[in-house]
Amino acid sequence: MKGHLLYIDITQICGIGCPFCMYADKHKSGIKMTLSHQAAENLTSLINSPEVKRISVSGEGEPLNNIETFHQILSLSRGNKAFEFITSGFLPHDRLQTFYEATSALVASKNDTCNIRLSSDSHHIERIKHRPHGFSISFLREHKPAGLTFSFRSVDTDRAFTGLYLVDELARHGLDASIVRQSMLEDQLVVGEMRFSVEYKNLVLPATDAPSGYLNLQQYVCAIEEKVLKRFTLGSLNKAPLDNGMDVTVKPNGDVFFYGIESERLGNIHTDPFSWQQLSQRVADSPLIRTLYTKPFMDLVTRLQDDERAQSILNRVNNPYWVVKAMAGHDGMLDRMIAP
Ligand code: SF4
Repeated sequence: MKGHLLYIDITQICGIGCPFCMYADKHKSGIKMTLSHQAAENLTSLINSPEVKRISVSGEGEPLNNIETFHQILSLSRGNKAFEFITSGFLPHDRLQTFYEATSALVASKNDTCNIRLSSDSHHIERIKHRPHGFSISFLREHKPAGLTFSFRSVDTDRAFTGLYLVDELARHGLDASIVRQSMLEDQLVVGEMRFSVEYKNLVLPATDAPSGYLNLQQYVCAIEEKVLKRFTLGSLNKAPLDNGMDVTVKPNGDVFFYGIESERLGNIHTDPFSWQQLSQRVADSPLIRTLYTKPFMDLVTRLQDDERAQSILNRVNNPYWVVKAMAGHDGMLDRMIAP
């Protein structure tokens, strides 16, 4: 495996209050990640492997609530790394600009890049007073901050909404933009010579009063397979003919998991040593992780077609990672799914 994704959740704090948020119970009393000596050593080793394609920083809350740790993580790089920061961009524009400038200075000093991925769907937009979308593209064009790029993400079923919103919002900043359709899960926002990706995700577990139109599990997995030109397995998918990588997530308290497989905790970055080699051995040694990483997910779930509780999960949960999390709560269900 290579082309790994390291995903670091740096905070549980968030005051935005999206109704669908899976982590809402943690937002008021939650914790922020701080880097112990051991955590910094582990992250330095994981970040600087040539086999890592991207280091994504976000949270079970809003990562702008822990800028200090984000910048400490950037400073662990030894150069030529691709970072990503996934955010609502809620800060007042003067503070957001200060954040962009400090981030640009850090990544440019190491020849790194950082893509700022801004939430651009109706759920987030209506809760944010200082909308960051037009401001950010305007800032990019005027200041050309070294190493910074921008993209957008949405969980709207109504893709026209997100496209129209971005075009309108950029027009308010004097920018002439248009949307070009790419695939079921991606558009491009075009501003002159510049292109920005707009990625669509399926809202996990839409509420009963959510608008219709979200893809079901099979449709969502199909759309991902069309995009990567291969069958969907867990792990970090790289477009065919590239091999897949590991998809590792570090939680705000330092606990480490393979993304989506939270029934097997791998240790904690504050107390246990981590390397990609040791994580790779863990994939090989664990029947659950090895099977989920190597066998097409939709083939595995068909083994549970006579299991009523499993079928109820598969009808309700429309994201494969969250299906695995839901099944882990039922004794023996995942074992039956991976049985040879
Ligand atoms: S901004 Fe993100 S973390 Fe905050 S409530 Fe919305 S979905 Fe949850």
